[in-house]
Amino acid sequence: MIIVLLGAPGTGKGTQANFIAERFGLEVISPGDILRQEMKNGTTLGKKAEKFVKSGGLVPDDLIIEMMRERIERSGNLPARHNGFIFDGFPRNLSQAKALEKMLESLGSSIDRAIYFHMPEERIIKRLSGRRVCTDCGVTYHIAYNPPEEEGVCGKCGGTLYQRDDDKPEIISQRLETYNRDTAPIIDYYSKKDYYLQVDADDDIDRIKDNITRVLGG
Ligand code: AMP
Repeated sequence: MIIVLLGAPGTGKGTQANFIAERFGLEVISPGDILRQEMKNGTTLGKKAEKFVKSGGLVPDDLIIEMMRERIERSGNLPARHNGFIFDGFPRNLSQAKALEKMLESLGSSIDRAIYFHMPEERIIKRLSGRRVCTDCGVTYHIAYNPPEEEGVCGKCGGTLYQRDDDKPEIISQRLETYNRDTAPIIDYYSKKDYYLQVDADDDIDRIKDNITRVLGG
């Protein structure tokens, strides 16, 4: 099963990606998580990506597409390990969408579901500014809508929670501008596909989870 999650940052794609992955035995591939890890480790890719991530822009397509190709091929060669992929944050523009189709085709596969997380912009800003992420396992929380049991501590692994630099107000507005300019147009592209589904991302987390699970046949 190949699932693509679409929607602005802060709409809950990452949280739902983890639920779906666990439920259906899928592997989540999140370019944002990979890039943050590369930057933390100071790799060549991390250094090249840093200025784009920090300023709220998109990392150039050639770097992203190569990074994703390598990741998919590495995991795609080990089908016994999982039942497919969930892409969280990829594709983010039309050329990435086309590149993904080609990559999957070369593996004899294709997208089964593209799920668009719809949310009004003023809600997105609230969600991003209250988001906290685990330093160790990357799980996300929200100080109001999805708080950890113990403040500042990850309920899953005990790691310390932090606020991403790009979740601070000045970068949030830049990220939304990038989203509206580059990523929003691909919603139109996917909405014409028969595998497209839109969910109300401002709904209760469990209700969204149940809706998606039902649509995926679980
Ligand atoms: P995210 O964790 O998905 O919000 O991504 C964090 C940042 O990583 C984005 O603001 C971009 O700078 C970069 N990034 C993530 N995914 C992509 C992508 N598919 N294409 C280009 N840049 C990306």
